[in-house]
Amino acid sequence: MFKETLAHLRAYDPGPSVEEIKKRYGLERLVKLDSNENVYGASPKVSEAIVKASLLPELYPDCRDSDLRRELAVRLGTREEQFLFGLGLDEMIVLISRALLERGTNIVMAWPTFYEYYCHAQIEGAETKKVPCGKDGRHDLDAMRDAVDSATKVIWICNPNNPTGTYVNDQELAHFVDEIPDDVVIVLDEAYIDFVTASDFPRSLELLKDHPNLLVLRTFSKSYGLASFRIGYAVGQQRLIDEIDKVRPPFNNPRLSQIAAFAALQDQDFMKDCVKKNKDVLEMTTVFLDEKKISYFPTQANFIYVKVDNPKAVAEKCKTKGFLINPFQTGVRITIGKMNDMKELLGILESAISETSAEPSL
Ligand SMILES: *Cc1c(COP(=O)(O)O)cnc(C)c1O
Repeated sequence: MFKETLAHLRAYDPGPSVEEIKKRYGLERLVKLDSNENVYGASPKVSEAIVKASLLPELYPDCRDSDLRRELAVRLGTREEQFLFGLGLDEMIVLISRALLERGTNIVMAWPTFYEYYCHAQIEGAETKKVPCGKDGRHDLDAMRDAVDSATKVIWICNPNNPTGTYVNDQELAHFVDEIPDDVVIVLDEAYIDFVTASDFPRSLELLKDHPNLLVLRTFSKSYGLASFRIGYAVGQQRLIDEIDKVRPPFNNPRLSQIAAFAALQDQDFMKDCVKKNKDVLEMTTVFLDEKKISYFPTQANFIYVKVDNPKAVAEKCKTKGFLINPFQTGVRITIGKMNDMKELLGILESAISETSAEPSL
């Protein structure tokens, strides 16, 4: 009855709720460091704007996100026609996949990287070429270029990469986009760009002018702390944006989400303060990990990938002690929490690693 492509997919499993976990393990408090949400919340200007806004529940929202569009165009130095808004980047990934992929086509992406690229290629019946990250956790751009063939429609570059936190630098990216044919769309997922401190991180917007096949994705979910409002966007040349716009449901961004994102943009101080705190806690974290000789990938984001022998067992131990972190195949991804939470977690992590390293993998 259903699309054949769904046969091997599973619906997203959010796991038990925070309340359920607290009850199960008898915890007073559970610190969520598993989804890279902003641990400092959102700007107070957001709630002020929401409280002041007239609800207008009976009206469809502004289909073009006009105010937000105008504001972003000024801030980013682009034209208003260059934006496409989505219900988070999650929806943007759906729209891009829907517009470009079908049976007989393929995507190229790193592995590990953000899972949704793969998921929506599957749904559209496209093949996925997963190119393993190097030992350093970074995208292997040469191998990704070599994986491109005449059926490749989209190359996903997650920069910084989720879950490894590593990045592709400006020279590597410039070289890469020059080598890719114009009929292959290169998507740069920059969900974490505001946290980046590296001076050689690509200025991707500057590449847009010369590359009609480039799309840059950004979201309000992470640095602006608006994950609950589900709003993100793509920037690219108008021709590409207009094509993808054809598959967008017209009223996809709720009015209050548009208002929240607009308000968040007005408080750059709040966002920058979150970024600064993230940097300080991250520094404390890497000093600790270095001292204890626990290996990790250097990160440019608000999370860090720590390499452990038994990721599931380590994550489970941390959970029983009140911290949610995310296990992957070769390590755990930990959102950089608040200073005190992170200090506590690192102690727990250290014992969890030594207690589980002798156990067989789960
Ligand atoms: C969190 C995340 C997203 C999705 O963000 P939303 O805008 O909340 O849907 C997209 N890409 C990456 C790499 C992410 O980590």
